[in-house]
Amino acid sequence: MSEPGADATRARAARADVAVVGGGPAGLMGAIYLARFRRSVVLVDAGHSRVARIPRTHNYPGFARGVAGAEVRDALRTQLREYPVQVLDRFVQFVQREPEGFRLHMGGSSVAARFVLLATGVTDVPPVMTHLRAALDEGLLRFCPVCDAYEVAGRSIGVYADGPAGVAEALYLRHFSADITLFMARGGADIGERERGELARAGIRWNDMPVEAIRRVGERVVLFQGGVRAYCDTLYCALGVTVHSELAGNLGASLDGAGYVQADAHHATRVPGLYVAGDVSVGLNQIAVAMGGAAIAASAMHRALPDSWAPHPAE
Ligand SMILES: Cc1cc2nc3c(=O)[nH]c(=O)nc-3n(C[C@H](O)[C@H](O)[C@H](O)COP(=O)(O)OP(=O)(O)OC[C@H]3O[C@@H](n4cnc5c(N)ncnc54)[C@H](O)[C@@H]3O)c2cc1C
Repeated sequence: MSEPGADATRARAARADVAVVGGGPAGLMGAIYLARFRRSVVLVDAGHSRVARIPRTHNYPGFARGVAGAEVRDALRTQLREYPVQVLDRFVQFVQREPEGFRLHMGGSSVAARFVLLATGVTDVPPVMTHLRAALDEGLLRFCPVCDAYEVAGRSIGVYADGPAGVAEALYLRHFSADITLFMARGGADIGERERGELARAGIRWNDMPVEAIRRVGERVVLFQGGVRAYCDTLYCALGVTVHSELAGNLGASLDGAGYVQADAHHATRVPGLYVAGDVSVGLNQIAVAMGGAAIAASAMHRALPDSWAPHPAE
């Protein structure tokens, strides 16, 4: 992302009304709302949005035939350029509290803002696998059943995991297909007795041997376990995510057990002036949720910021 052509004078004020950290759907939507509330906004983005990894989403509103994730991001960036928002392609290393707000440090430079909207997202923990990016692009490897299980209904589905989340994901996917196999990275020792019963009742297969390798072979995925090869049409990886909540945690925001930032119904954290939106704040990692959360956060921030009345016609 580069700086917008429009007049960015307000955004370049010594202290912006709001600094948005993250330029995925949540950060971009939040910045658009805030700019339209005539707030001065700086958006800082390291450029690794999950949305850019989506080959084609079919649950994003308004696109009957689906749309590529990169196209969604580019459309939001284009929309943002209509407003005087300063966009910095930088990584925020830490955020410091100041008497009048916050200072964001980016290695050699900093920006100050009254309020901060954190939209830093999560990163999927990937499996060790050959041709990972190609497998993702081709839908052979997937991370999110909520997003795209519909597309593989009735197919042969594998779930790759290293803990109880794998059992839950396999059971979730059973709704979409009768042909489900659970592959445990370290073997069946990670599946408890109760879970074994649940899997058996649902007709889900598993093999107690650890997974030795995962490969993409033609249009299928093959997993090697104890000298045996198992094939599936698509493999869901349930190794979890890394939640990018360090900035919030260091400022004193509370995090839940999984690392998500906790916030109230207006997306305000317990740190005054610090708001969150998107994947970093909610386990339902979805574009629509990220955008909706950003709209709620931005509206609450606008109400909580000091008034800045437009000049009276007589002035
Ligand atoms: C393969 C795949 C398929 C998916 N399919 C769908 C789908 O079909 N439908 C759907 O609704 N959702 C889907 N998702 C989920 C969707 O991509 C996310 O819910 C969405 O991108 C969340 O938006 P976000 O803005 O919260 O986070 P992100 O889009 O991840 O953006 C976060 C941004 O913050 C930046 N950042 C982080 N830390 C810092 C920092 N310290 N300083 C500066 N910048 C920082 C990152 O670089 C990144 O650009 C899919 C995800 C994946 C991986």
